Order: sequence, then C-alpha cells, then structure tokens
Amino acid sequence: MKKIWILFFAFGAAAQERRDPRVEAIVQRIEPAPLQATVAKLVSFGTRHTLSETSGPRGIGAARKWLATEFGRIGQRSRPFEDRFLAPTGPRIPAPVEIVNLGVVIPGTDAARSRQAIVMTGHYDSIPTDPMDAKSDAPGADDDASGVSMALEMARAFAAEQPAVSLYFVAVAGEEQGLVGSQHLAERLKSEGLEILAMTSVDIAGNGEGQDGIRDTSSGRIFSEGVPAVESEAQKKLREAVGGENDSPAREWARYLQSVGERYSEGLTLRLMLRRDRIARGSDHISFARLGYPAVRLMESRENYRRQHQTPRIENGLEYGDDLAHFDAPYAARLCRALAAAIASLAFAPAPPQKIVLAGAVSPDTKLRWTLPADPRLASVIVYRRGAGEVRWQERTLLGKVDHVVLPSLVPDNFFFAVATVDAAGNESLPHPPAELGR
Ligand SMILES: [Zn+2]
Repeated sequence: MKKIWILFFAFGAAAQERRDPRVEAIVQRIEPAPLQATVAKLVSFGTRHTLSETSGPRGIGAARKWLATEFGRIGQRSRPFEDRFLAPTGPRIPAPVEIVNLGVVIPGTDAARSRQAIVMTGHYDSIPTDPMDAKSDAPGADDDASGVSMALEMARAFAAEQPAVSLYFVAVAGEEQGLVGSQHLAERLKSEGLEILAMTSVDIAGNGEGQDGIRDTSSGRIFSEGVPAVESEAQKKLREAVGGENDSPAREWARYLQSVGERYSEGLTLRLMLRRDRIARGSDHISFARLGYPAVRLMESRENYRRQHQTPRIENGLEYGDDLAHFDAPYAARLCRALAAAIASLAFAPAPPQKIVLAGAVSPDTKLRWTLPADPRLASVIVYRRGAGEVRWQERTLLGKVDHVVLPSLVPDNFFFAVATVDAAGNESLPHPPAELGR
C-alpha cells in the first residue's frame, strides 16, 4: 500500500500545466485594434436587424456583404463558409426572410477525426427597443458586433494552422428573432454528420462597465447547462446514479475554457456560471445544446442593460443605446485570447480516452479503466479529481500511457473523476467523466 501511495504522488508532482508555443503564437495574434475596427464597421451600417434592407449601404444586407468579403479574403488554409436559407414565418418573422450565416472553416488534418469540429459563433444581427422595428438605428456594438469581431479575428489567427479537427468561426444572423440562424446552422452541421466537440457563442463581450457603475475588464463569465438538454435513458440513469449534474459535456467544456483561458490570457479570470444562460435569457449556444452538443456562452462580467436592445436616445438625462463609445477593445481582446487558447489547445490535443469505467463503489479505493485512443500524439493520460462538493477540478495526475489506475484510500463516493489525454506540448483533450459503472 505504501509503495502505491509514493508512486501516486510522484506522478502528481509532474503534473504541471504547460504552455504550447503554437497556442501562444495564436493568442498573440489577437489584438484590440482589429476588433475595434470590425465593431466600428458593423455599427456604421446603422441597423443590422434581420428584417432590415438588403440592397442599400444601410442594413443587414450591406453588413453581410462586408463580412463575406472579410472572411473570403483570409485565405491560407481557411475556406469560406456560407449557410443561406429562407426562414419561415415565426413569432418574430412576419414573412419568410433570407438568413445568411457566414464565416470560415479551417479543415482538420487528422483523417481519423475528419468529422469532428469545434464551433464558435457571434451574431451580427441587432435590434432596437422594438424587436420588430427594422428601420431605427440599432448599432449593436456590444450585442453582438463584439462576438462577430472575435469570430473574424480568430478566423485570421488560425488561418495558417493545422488543427487535428476542423474549426468553424461563424457570424450568424436571426439571433434576436429567436435564434433562427444558429438553429439552422446547428441542424445543418448535424445533418452533415459532424461531431461537435465544443461550441461557444460569444455574445455581449466588450462592455467593461456595468449599469451599477462598477468597472471590470479583468474577468468574464462562462454559462453552461448542467443537466443536458438531450440525454439517452442510459445517460440519465448514470447521471442519477453518480450525481453527474455538474459534469455534463457542456460543463466540462466550460471548465476547460476557464482553465486554459486563464493559463494563456494574462490577467483574466473566468467565472463558471452554473446555469445555461442569464435568467430567462438566451443565445446561440442553446441551438447547439438542443441538438445534444456541448455548448457554452462566453460573455462580459458586468452588463449595462441600458445599452442592450435599446434605440439610441437620451431619456430623463440617461443615455440609452449599444454604441461604439462603450466598446472596450482591450477587454474584448482579453476574452478573445482566452477562447482562442482553449480552442487551439483542444484542436491540437489527442483524441480523448474511450469507454471510461468507474469501479470501487462500496470500497475504500477508486478504480478507473478506459480504452486508449490510437492517436500518435498521445503522451499521457490525466486523471482529474475534485471533492464531491467542489466545482473546479482540484487534482490533476499524469499517469503515462496506461489504461487503468487504482487510487487507494479514495472513496469514490466523496469525489468526482474524469479522464483526459495530453500531448507532449501540454494540449489536453476534454476531460471525460466515467460513462459506465463497473466492478
Ligand atoms: Zn446577443
């Protein structure tokens, strides 16, 4: 017993998190100035309401033409991506309207994982006070030119990279009309047989001062669902048996984004929010969650509600409107670097372990076993552990290329576990919790 303990701690001591120079290089390419330029350009179209005009210099048509040009000129390994469709009449769509989601795909290089992808979206449509008003100014600087500017910058930053899995950076429309653009995008990617490992909607991510007057440009929030919107009967049974409400695929991606994001984005703290979105509100990640994909929302820490969904005006001496003047590009860049780092690290990482079995219930020891992926990048397996009352992982143990471990004197009831793989540069797969209980 004593020997096993020593071995366990020796591995534990080697478990330093590392920074990959390739990921650092991508992060360094994200600068405030181009984010600022994109937001300014998008604001200049007056309104980007989904039902606004599509022929003149004003309206969503001009905005999407400009975005198509910008995404189209990136080149290198990137390929322009377009998802164009006619949205039928709905609660916020009085007559069928053409919606265009557009961005780039950076194709994955691992032939064995050619159907896997990581998706990021921002929405380029905007609304004034009345959601059906397609004529009034709706600058939408923070909501959500901020997210679109990040999609464009990340498309540029990753354009020459060789990720193992494909990356989608997409500006969607129709968000304010009921998530109709992202719903179509998610359904299309699903119908194409894509397995989305992680999806992030960046929405309202550049305002550094809350309505309460408190400034915060050094933290962000990640919203994720606990109980998955989609789960099989077997998954539900397992979740109930182990108490897996805080270990949904979305929550694992949220924790991953928090941890890798903080590692690479200097001076940024990311807060895990244990709910799908702010209370009774939503964004495009929900379209992906509804199809069973791990999807989260990344956004600013402190919102100013007088600058969201408001026709620009001054009322009783108070300023309303989502204007360019309150977009904080250095803050947005910090959030964008965190997301770029997490996407890069996951995209370079080996395939995750498969068929993870947790055993040892009704015993003083925890036993875990899994199947190793046949991935040449695999350098080691990592076992994550946290106390059963904790939110963040607390222990991270590198085990080498093994397919099982016994953790003596760790009663499984008192901990949560997950298993990940890591490459030689420190890029980790998502941690996967046990998918099965065994003996
Ligand atoms: Zn929004």
